Formats: sequence, structure tokens, C-alpha cells
Amino acid sequence: MRYAEERAAVVATCRRMVAERLVVGTAGNVSVRAGELVAVTPSGLDYAELTPELVGLHRLDGEPVDAPLAPTSELPMHLAVYAGTGATAVVHTHSTAATALSCLVDEVPAVHYYLAPLGGGVRVAPYAPYGTPELADAVLHALHGRVACLLANHGAVTVGPSLSAAYERARQLEWVCEVALRVLATPGPPRLLTPDQLADAAARLAGYGQRPPGR
Ligand code: 13P
Ligand code: ZN
Repeated sequence: MRYAEERAAVVATCRRMVAERLVVGTAGNVSVRAGELVAVTPSGLDYAELTPELVGLHRLDGEPVDAPLAPTSELPMHLAVYAGTGATAVVHTHSTAATALSCLVDEVPAVHYYLAPLGGGVRVAPYAPYGTPELADAVLHALHGRVACLLANHGAVTVGPSLSAAYERARQLEWVCEVALRVLATPGPPRLLTPDQLADAAARLAGYGQRPPGR
């Protein structure tokens, strides 16, 4: 099978999305770029039935290369992200807090420094019907200078240099949105982080974690 590793990674990511409740049913979709091709989930297939062979391979213009099933309805959005950014992977979820918050704000309020690695204020792309070029345009616009956005009254999109990075961002974004919802539901004006504080957090987080000894 061509691109077996990428297709297996798409399946594994989908299984995690379901297990970690970032989607229900057949909601959401996932893709990873491999050179001039994209491995992408089929439309409307129960993730429990998804196998690497059923993950479609498409050219960057959408033409199927090895795709036994119809691709995700959001293929235009995935392709727009690859055409317009340097991303290698795209994860689209309908995670609960992100979707709820997308109905309330135009940008995720800066409630936590975990927004910093997502590029700062995460924008909400205006509503457009799922699967349309209008939604693809709105998402690309909202992602400008960012690696995540919300889709108004719909869900979330994260991108990254790898599927695991894009997926981890989806998890972190969902957590921040959950915190933001609680803050917004609490009386009194919230204390939010400033752009300078977020930029400082981004710089600190670039050095976060374990370093090899002596470095
Ligand atoms: P697909 O099953 O076509 O990927 O659609 C799910 C979805 O989330 C549409 O926005
Ligand atoms: Zn969707």
C-alpha cells in the first residue's frame, strides 16, 4: 500500500479523537500531507470501520490518486490550508467546548498562557455551511499567523508540522475553550492576559520541557 505510514497515522489520530471525545459519530476529519499528496479521511464513515486502505490519497488539487471512498466533505478546507500555509497536517473536530465558545465570541479570550503556542488570540471563522469553499476561505483567513481557529457554530481546526502536533493542539485548544467558557459563565469582568504576556509565554514555552544533559 502506498503511504502506509501516513494512512495508519490518520487512522490512529481518528481513534484518539473518538476516544478522547473530540468528536462524536462521523464528525470531524483529519489529513496529513506527504509531498504532493494528501492522505485524508473519507466522508461519513464510522471511525471504528476506518482502515489505512480506506484513507484516501489525493493530489493537492483534490484529484483522487488512490481513494476507494469519497473524501471528507471538508476536502476544500484541507486543501486550502495546504495551499495557503506551510502546514503538514490538519485536524478538524467538533469538540464540545470549542463549539460552544464559537457561538459566543469572535476570538478565544486570553484566559491562559496555553494560547501562546497556538499563536495568541485564536480567531473564530465566520459561519459558512460545512464543506463549502466559503468555509475553506474563512478558515484560511482565520488561521493567518495562527495554528488554530474556531469555526462559528461548528467546531475547531488545528494545523501543525505533523499529525501528532496538530492533534495535540486540538486537545490543548479544547482545554483552553473549556476554561474560557467557565470564565465567561462567571459574574464579573475576567482578568485576561495581555498580548505582551502571551508573547512572553510563547518565548518561555519554546524552552519548556526536558533538555538533554549539558545543553
Ligand atoms: P465528513 O464526514 O464529510 O468529513 O464531515 C464531517 C464534518 O465535520 C463536516 O464539517
Ligand atoms: Zn465539521
